[in-house]
This record gives sequence, C-alpha cells and structure tokens, in this order.
Amino acid sequence: MKYFIKTFGCQQNHSDSERIESTLKARRMTKARSYKTADYIVINTCMIRESAENRVYGLVNNLGKLKKERSFKIIVTGCMVGLAFRDKTGKYLKKIRETMPEVDEFLPIEEIGFDNAPVRQDRISAWVPISNGCNNFCTFCIVPFTRGREISRPYQDIIDECRQLKKKGYKNITLLGQNVNSYGADLLVGENNIQVMRDLPKKYFGKKQTGVEGLGIPTARRLDDLLVGRALAGKDPIQAPFAEIKPVYVKHLGRYRIPTLFPHLLEEVAKMNFEKVDFISSNPWDFSDELISVIAKNKNITRLIHLPIQSGDDNVLKRMNRWYTQKQYLNLITKLKKKIPAIKFSTDIIVGFCGETEKEFRNTVSLAKKVGFEKAYLAMYSSRFGTAATKNFKDDIPHTIKEKRWLTLEKLINRPRLSLSRN
Ligand code: SF4
Repeated sequence: MKYFIKTFGCQQNHSDSERIESTLKARRMTKARSYKTADYIVINTCMIRESAENRVYGLVNNLGKLKKERSFKIIVTGCMVGLAFRDKTGKYLKKIRETMPEVDEFLPIEEIGFDNAPVRQDRISAWVPISNGCNNFCTFCIVPFTRGREISRPYQDIIDECRQLKKKGYKNITLLGQNVNSYGADLLVGENNIQVMRDLPKKYFGKKQTGVEGLGIPTARRLDDLLVGRALAGKDPIQAPFAEIKPVYVKHLGRYRIPTLFPHLLEEVAKMNFEKVDFISSNPWDFSDELISVIAKNKNITRLIHLPIQSGDDNVLKRMNRWYTQKQYLNLITKLKKKIPAIKFSTDIIVGFCGETEKEFRNTVSLAKKVGFEKAYLAMYSSRFGTAATKNFKDDIPHTIKEKRWLTLEKLINRPRLSLSRN
C-alpha cells in the first residue's frame, strides 16, 4: 500500500504531517512519488482563510474525478476536521460531508498522537511541537475552534525529543505552538482551569505567594522531577511536581496573567548547543522580561522574532480581542531592541478587518514604519465560521480597499524596492 500526503497551511500542520507519515509507515505503507500512484491520499487541511479552505474543496473535487478511473482512499484531516468535530451544532461536519462526498474518512488529528517518531523531511532543521490549540479567541481567528484549547506537551518529552535530535546531528530547532510563550500554563494549573487562571487578580500572586506555592500546588525537588506527562496521565495535573523552576507570571495591562514555563524550556533547549533555536508563534501578551533575558543570554536563540501585531490601531485591536495597545507593543519592541541590539522582527497583519477605517489603517502603517519589520505575513480579512467577528461584526470593507491596503503594506514592508521604483 502506498500513501501520499498533501499538507496545507502553517508549520504546525507540516509538523503534524510528519507524525501522520510515521503512523502510515508503522502500518507498513510506503511513500508514493505522486498522488497518481497512491492508495491512500491524506489531505492535511488549513482553514485560517477562506482561500485555504477553497483549495481543499478544489483538490478533493479533482481527486473525486480520478476515483472514477481507479480505486484509492481519500482521508481528510487537520483544521477542517478539527472544527467539524468541535462544532456541537454538527453544521460544519454536515457541510464538509456534503461538499466533499468523495472523502472516505475524516480523521481528527488528535488521533495521531506522539507514539511514533515523526518522519522528518529535513536532516538539518527540525520542528518540535510544544503545545497545541489556543485559548486567546482573537475574534477573527478560527484556530481555537479547529485545534481546541491550548494543551502543552509534557516538558520532559520535549527535552527528550530535542536531545535525540541533537544526537542525530540536527543543527536547528524550531519550537512550535500557536502561542509558544504561554507554554506550560495548563501543566501548572490544570487544563480545566486555564481560562479561569488567565486573568486572576494580583492578590493571588502577592509577594509571599510567588511561584506555584501561592496556588496550593505541591513543589518539586529537582527539575528532572518534571514528570508532567505521567502526572497528567494520573488525571491530576495539579499534582504535577514543579518547583526549582519557578513559573513566570507575566504582568500584562497591569494585571498578572498566566504562569508559563516557556523561558525555562527555551533556555534548556538552547543549552543543548544547537546552532539555532527558533520559536513560533509568540504573542506580545506573554512576552515576559524573563523570556527577553533568556534570549539575550543565549546567542543561539533566534534574533528574528516573529511577533504578530495584526493591527496598529487600538480600536481595531479591541475589536480583534488582542490584549494590547499600539503603545504597549512598541514598548515591548523598544525593550527587546535595547536588551538585544541585533534583534529584528517579523509579524502578521490583517487588513480590512470589520469596520477598519482609513485612519485606523494608517495607524498600522505608522506602526510598521516605527518598528521596521523585516517581513510581514499580510492577509486580507475573511470571515471564518463560528468566530466572534463573524457573529458580531460585518465584513464591510470592500475587497478593492482590502487589496489596496494589502499592497500598501506589501510595498512598505516586504518589497521596499518596488515601492521606491514606483514612487
Ligand atoms: S493567538 Fe489569536 S490569532 Fe493566534 S492562534 Fe490564538 S486566537 Fe488565533
């Protein structure tokens, strides 16, 4: 039996596909050179934008025509299936079943697991997933619905995987997650409590109550005791022993947010002496001083930080449910530039979000000029099923204006030469 995997979307999806491949190999299947000779065609889907979703429909439709000539199975997995299985109304599952009757199986990615070592596509650089899902619910974003709530991989599993990669001669590591810098919050306080913990008032973190003690969580003796996975398997994550490594409580907008273990994890991986350690995606709200100092201390940690801004206007940020202002973002950039002089930034920006006025867009342009991004992943807003923006706002910016705004930023950030030659 031969398989072929087609992956749409981000690094996390590509990393998931490496684990899908290992599962297929474990079933003694071999890789087909092309979909034309495959018995199993796995499509790992993305639905961050409408266009990504439409590409999947188009591909399945074309494969459906081929099915009339020869027999093979189509398995669809990834974000579309994640959403279908999480949507309690059943509407989305019904929709994809009706739109893609050619599909033999809709496979939730969670069924793949971490039992088999991923079949890596590269011998130098490796992706290592550290968390999956997101609790932030930016109003435009479908990820919390497709991937579910944020779940961190056990600390020791990540360390073991990185050590293995080092032994195998890998030079570059990228730690992956939708919000990497919030890694570990669920390990510390239990995944069911994570939403409650997000914005606890400061009194819970008074001076004498720093670290996990303040939460009544037992302390551990040694870092090696971080047997979080086993603690989770024991169905009592709060009992997970933590201690000598103190969780970092990030202060944001004057309030303490979640505890995170990311600075510790990043530093431990960096100390394994990889040539480069990268992480993606981080978000402004969990970018603690501890994280900045870990990056500053370890020269092999990336100097190109991906820090999504999405919009440079405070009102748009509020409508997007992004918990910072333009000023706070710029303060963070300034702090990073001061502590790490060689630092550069890339970002994500959405243009034409619901109700975005010309003035609001200009604030994004002005922020981009101030930061001087190396690169920006620019997107024109498109409404996504089930999100708060789709339910509460109108997608009212004409496509032509979205295109114009997109091009303005493209010329400013990604193609400055083009901008010069045209002006
Ligand atoms: S932080 Fe916001 S944009 Fe990023 S995955 Fe989570 S909800 Fe989506």
